[in-house]
Amino acid sequence: MTESNLLDGKGIALKVREQVRQQVEKRVAQGHRAPGLATVLVGEDPASQVYVRNKHRAAEKAGIVNFHKELPADISQQGLLQVIDELNNDDAVDGILCQLPLPKHLDEDAVIMAIDPQKDVDGFHPQSTSALYQGKPNFVPCTPKGCMVLLDEAGIDLNGKNAVVVGRSHIVGKPMAHLLLGANCTVTICHSRTQDLASHTRKADVVVAAVGRSEMLTDEHISEGTVVIDVGINRGEDGKLRGDVDFAKVSPVAKAITPVPGGVGPMTIAMLMYNTCLAHQRRLGIEDES
Ligand code: NDP
Repeated sequence: MTESNLLDGKGIALKVREQVRQQVEKRVAQGHRAPGLATVLVGEDPASQVYVRNKHRAAEKAGIVNFHKELPADISQQGLLQVIDELNNDDAVDGILCQLPLPKHLDEDAVIMAIDPQKDVDGFHPQSTSALYQGKPNFVPCTPKGCMVLLDEAGIDLNGKNAVVVGRSHIVGKPMAHLLLGANCTVTICHSRTQDLASHTRKADVVVAAVGRSEMLTDEHISEGTVVIDVGINRGEDGKLRGDVDFAKVSPVAKAITPVPGGVGPMTIAMLMYNTCLAHQRRLGIEDES
């Protein structure tokens, strides 16, 4: 594989973020208030703290105002819902993101349901999900949307192609499959009960791996000429981040492949900025700027 086969998520994400920054700058120059993004972090999970910090930095650079709520791990369901309600009613807040996973005693679905669908920049609210599944996307979850933008920016033609999504979570696998379907792929979704995974992935033109198992997909799973999108983020005992794809084995055969880190991760953050900018545009009734 040559270097040109590497799908540069980091570079494309920077491009998207710069576009958002310019849009925000333009709106503020026109006299609008800046977009506001509220992040809610419950407890002190180190990985979640890093993710939220990275989102804050990206927002700040784009000219988006951060509203951050840090809540104790033992907060009650009612206490958390009250915070969400306050953010729903805060006019300066355009997007609300509750960092998942939440501590076990909290009902994630109820928290997601409580977010105003107009501020659902994570795209997890049932209203956003049903819009996506009906083929009329509203707010699209950031990670799968980021994968689609990556494929598009890399000039990969999806029309009529066989796509295999490994993983069927609400956050990545399912919305990813629907986006690929919307792009006219023939889509197969694989999961932990799939028999002979390789027999599916080897037939694919595009494989999206969203499993959460370090380097699970090898050159036994991937055929020559396949585009591989690795969503997985797995921290090894050596502290290094690895994807769900064995990069060393797969990159020589893949037509194109995302690295970990530097692939899908940066795209997720860029799409959060994009969704926040979109929420701001809609809430302020700003006309289409494109
Ligand atoms: P989940 O744990 O919610 O889902 C994992 C999916 O993988 C499930 O559908 C599961 O199947 C399937 N699976 C598990 N084992 C196997 C197997 N042996 N063969 C085939 N399928 C299997 O994870 P998420 O979707 O939330 O995340 C997936 C990965 O993506 C994680 O590494 C996560 O850290 C990463 N991630 C990265 C993001 C980014 O920005 N780059 C953002 C979000 C997630 P079943 O349904 O049958 O249990």
